[in-house]
Amino acid sequence: MAESKQIVVVGGGAAGLMAAGQAAMAGASVLLLERMPRLATKLRITGKGRCNLTNTADLNEFLAHFAFPEAEDQSYLFVRNAFARFFAPDLVAFFEAQGVPTVVERGGRVFPASNDAHHVAEALSRFVHEQGVSVRLRSRVTRLQLEGGQLRALVLDNGQQVPAAAAIIATGGASYPGTGSSGDGYDLARQAGHTIVPVRPALVPLVIAGPEPRRMMGLSLRNVEVRLLLDGVEFAREFGEMLFTHYGVSGPIILTLSGPAVQRLGQGRLEMSINLKPALSPERLDARLLRDLDEGGRKSYRNLLKGLLPQKMIDVVMDRTGIPPDKPGHQIAAQEREGLRALLHDFRLEVVGHRPLEEAIVTAGGVDTGEVDPRTMASRLARGLFFAGEVLNVQADTGGYNLQAAFSTGYVAGRAAAASVSGD
Ligand SMILES: Cc1cc2nc3c(=O)[nH]c(=O)nc-3n(C[C@H](O)[C@H](O)[C@H](O)COP(=O)(O)OP(=O)(O)OC[C@H]3O[C@@H](n4cnc5c(N)ncnc54)[C@H](O)[C@@H]3O)c2cc1C
Repeated sequence: MAESKQIVVVGGGAAGLMAAGQAAMAGASVLLLERMPRLATKLRITGKGRCNLTNTADLNEFLAHFAFPEAEDQSYLFVRNAFARFFAPDLVAFFEAQGVPTVVERGGRVFPASNDAHHVAEALSRFVHEQGVSVRLRSRVTRLQLEGGQLRALVLDNGQQVPAAAAIIATGGASYPGTGSSGDGYDLARQAGHTIVPVRPALVPLVIAGPEPRRMMGLSLRNVEVRLLLDGVEFAREFGEMLFTHYGVSGPIILTLSGPAVQRLGQGRLEMSINLKPALSPERLDARLLRDLDEGGRKSYRNLLKGLLPQKMIDVVMDRTGIPPDKPGHQIAAQEREGLRALLHDFRLEVVGHRPLEEAIVTAGGVDTGEVDPRTMASRLARGLFFAGEVLNVQADTGGYNLQAAFSTGYVAGRAAAASVSGD
């Protein structure tokens, strides 16, 4: 086979597009292979179609969103190097230069000003074309060809061989496989001898025991505090917004809590405690209930609850407290009032599972970062092989952190692969 100088990028998502464009910008001849009929399919559905592409948090706070102390992964240590080269302000400037101005929203979340994820995808697609990257769609890579520890070529599912001096594996994780990321990169990495940290869902909705979630389906709770407990001992808590679904719970704080929850499933009784009135101390909430019962003494219990809770919760709370719906407020005993108060502060649900990996926002696990050089994204096991994006064992909270990691690792891999083939 003739010696190739070509860099082949496998996967045209956030990481692969950034990597391909940067490698070409650095002077390399670049071919991008994407298995889907179009580029950046997943990117187009991120942030509910708006694409939360990064976050304005400073570096330390940003890294804290990659640190899951109880997990064995070292995501935050690994990405620190990539962020030192290409971080959030660089990404914002990059998109600005590509004609995609951004806006900052609550929690430092950065979105395109147009609120349209397609604009982010199209800008990246324009970027690679302008840099002279050759793009081949409907091209699925299934094999690596190595000779004496050096990458020589990639093989497509139709058997076609594509020579490569270097390859950047940017195939994403294994969640939302309909977008093209079905875990192929793990097989490719294994072929070069890489260890794959077992994949599991991160940022995934949770399944709750019993029929109550279905009764409250569609209800979104804002400004609640959710705690997670294993055999009664708290191990995580978050404040913000959550949602009831037909199987359980989802929404921003649930996705954030899902990492530690998934890890503890099967280790004991896993419970979620929702504090529906976190701004009120027990004394103040009791005083509020007492006032409501006094002022609306003739109103039924059901009507009194309307002033306290969203409509979809009322039947469930009535059932749990066991107070008859028609009981007038002035007849509600102190003990019954305390039962209601305790429920509002500690609405318990049993977590019995999680939705499948396919429905996770992010795949945890992946190519072991201990076998990848964080300064270049180069494999420590095979020459000419690089990794970028979610295929790596790197995962973070919601808030734009995962896409920044994909863009930053893509940037570094692209630049380093170009340097490697030019002999720099
Ligand atoms: C619904 C949803 C919403 C999200 N919202 C956000 C958000 O707002 N902010 C945020 O930071 N993160 C968000 N994420 C996470 C974010 O989308 C991912 O972390 C990010 O897309 C990872 O980028 P990537 O380039 O590594 O992988 P991907 O974007 O998955 O791209 C991988 C590409 O590789 C291609 N590919 C796979 N295998 C092969 C193969 N064998 N040959 C050729 N091509 C292949 C795939 O078709 C795909 O195009 C969201 C995820 C989901 C599912």
